[in-house]
Amino acid sequence: MATKTVAPGNLFIVAAPSGAGKSSLIRALLARHNDGSMQVSVSSTTRAPRPGEQDGVHYHFLSVDAFQKRIAEGEFYEWAKVFDNYYGTSRSVIEDTLQRGIDVFLDIDWQGAQQVREAYPEVRSIFIVPPSLTALEQRLRSRGQDSDEVIAKRMAKAQSEMSHYHEFDYLLVNGDFDQTLHEFEHIVMAHRHRMPLQQVRYADTLKDLLGSSAAFPY
Ligand code: 5GP
Repeated sequence: MATKTVAPGNLFIVAAPSGAGKSSLIRALLARHNDGSMQVSVSSTTRAPRPGEQDGVHYHFLSVDAFQKRIAEGEFYEWAKVFDNYYGTSRSVIEDTLQRGIDVFLDIDWQGAQQVREAYPEVRSIFIVPPSLTALEQRLRSRGQDSDEVIAKRMAKAQSEMSHYHEFDYLLVNGDFDQTLHEFEHIVMAHRHRMPLQQVRYADTLKDLLGSSAAFPY
């Protein structure tokens, strides 16, 4: 039976150290659900674009002044300084998108995750780690021609990020990509099917099955 009322979308935080495969997993999940039911939030940042990154697609690239003005105006749902640069999530985009019944993924760090949990306790947070430190180092090395010193710094940053893993609701260990994608999808789907949302989506069906008085036993 057709759905009449839009249940609010679900908010998910996905955090991981660089090299754990987070962006690829989010991209793959969105590709599998390309029906407009889920989106990844495009953050704002003061860091410079990397080769191939487009303004408005990967990030909204802002000057430090413009970013600070937006902080003062309360435009960010959360923001944090991550390794010398500012990063933030737009409040209006998150709220509007959830209101339209679309699930939103926030690809943010542990500091932003703490702020979102405070503001929105229904959020589900997922932490992704690589299967071992050796695998992480291999992944970081395979990305480019970085010196040992740069790799050592990235490894230290990754370990600092990973020390916050226990603050999250779910932990994914990304050894096998397809397996991890499967697990990621299960978490998202289970959350999407929880009772309060299903009662809104399937109000007509429940009324049909149970009669209007029995459909909502509260
Ligand atoms: P990168 O510069 O490599 O794209 O991202 C660096 C870190 O900043 C990653 O851990 C990423 O998840 C985090 N990040 C990206 N956007 C946001 C945001 O809007 N808020 C917060 N708190 N962290 C973010």
